[in-house]
Amino acid sequence: MSELSDMYQEVILDHNKSPRNFKKLDDATHSLEGYNPLCGDKLTIYLRLEDNVIEETSFVGSGCAISKASASMMTHKLKGLTTIEAEQMIQNVHQMLTGKITDELTISKLGNLAALSGVCKFPTRVKCATLAWHTFKAALAGADEKVSTE
Ligand code: ZN
Repeated sequence: MSELSDMYQEVILDHNKSPRNFKKLDDATHSLEGYNPLCGDKLTIYLRLEDNVIEETSFVGSGCAISKASASMMTHKLKGLTTIEAEQMIQNVHQMLTGKITDELTISKLGNLAALSGVCKFPTRVKCATLAWHTFKAALAGADEKVSTE
């Protein structure tokens, strides 16, 4: 079990050190800023939607390792999905992060996102991990006001 945690930690550190899709998307159709005042995490999520498919998604911002790793994994995961698939994925991840899914098989289907499953044991870090997903969901729904976890 501790070996597993080490592996999870490595995934998070790697995404924090070299975040994927860490750039502004100039031709984004949706973008939104998200803020987690508890920790000071500030992210802007960009996405380009074409025919209900997320063609491209990226983020910029600053925050703790968990918030950045979560955003990085999210952009990697949601790219290429339809809006319906993305909403389903966001819901599954949210349930995992808040400890509502604990079944290991379901968690393992989320791939490297499982690395974030440990945060549900640390209530103050849950918002760091959910920030990017909340912001993405709101951006997709067409929100134009900054999202705050508080
Ligand atoms: Zn944070």
